[in-house]
Amino acid sequence: MKERGIKRMLDDIEHEVRYTRRMIGRDALSPRVMKAMADTPRNEFVPKSYLDAAFDNGPLPIGHGQTISQPYIVALMTDLLELEDDDTVLEVGTGSGYQTAILSQLCRQVYTIEYVPALADMARTRLERLGYDNITAMAGNGYDGWPEHAPFDAIIVTAAASHIPKPLIDQLKPGGRMVIPVGRPHLYQELVLVEKDANGELAITNVLGVAFVPLQGERDESVF
Ligand code: SAH
Repeated sequence: MKERGIKRMLDDIEHEVRYTRRMIGRDALSPRVMKAMADTPRNEFVPKSYLDAAFDNGPLPIGHGQTISQPYIVALMTDLLELEDDDTVLEVGTGSGYQTAILSQLCRQVYTIEYVPALADMARTRLERLGYDNITAMAGNGYDGWPEHAPFDAIIVTAAASHIPKPLIDQLKPGGRMVIPVGRPHLYQELVLVEKDANGELAITNVLGVAFVPLQGERDESVF
């Protein structure tokens, strides 16, 4: 059952990648990312009442008004980060921990921050139970990043921001990449790729229209 579900989910992702290839600038995602998607049991990350839909290519409610992201978006955002084995990654918006689990298979260490304490606790317990051992999770406001562990090779924000938070820009390594949905909360946003070059110069690319739950606790430190 599970194997069939995952196979169908991978097929759906590949199909949607091809359908959006002009916008996302790629015909296929990297085999490393697709393997992580194949190896991660999404059924463990959704509420029991949604088990039947665990491998559908759509978001699902996880309580507290939040959602587990759509598999295609999880795969695409991960691919855009172009992670290497030795990388240290910051994730803002742990939610169910599903995206966290995918990231953890593609880098050395993931630091993840969740705003809703109950979700943070649930995700931490779940990720430990499933044996992911290179994840450090905390409850807090990810707008501020996690200065103690900065700088990061990659940063991923899985909630919609009105602007790119300055602390996250500051905590991105030269040569690093950040993926973040930017736009009006509750409406559509643009998935934005931020690349910081060796001199600290930023290149910003709009990748695709997306719809995420809002980033909470934004501060007025707009850079873009
Ligand atoms: N990647 C998650 C997505 C969860 S939805 C998954 O696939 O399960 C986005 C999450 O971001 C929600 O859990 C929400 O509570 C969290 N969030 C919103 N604002 C935040 C902030 N400022 N800091 C950390 N997490 C935040």
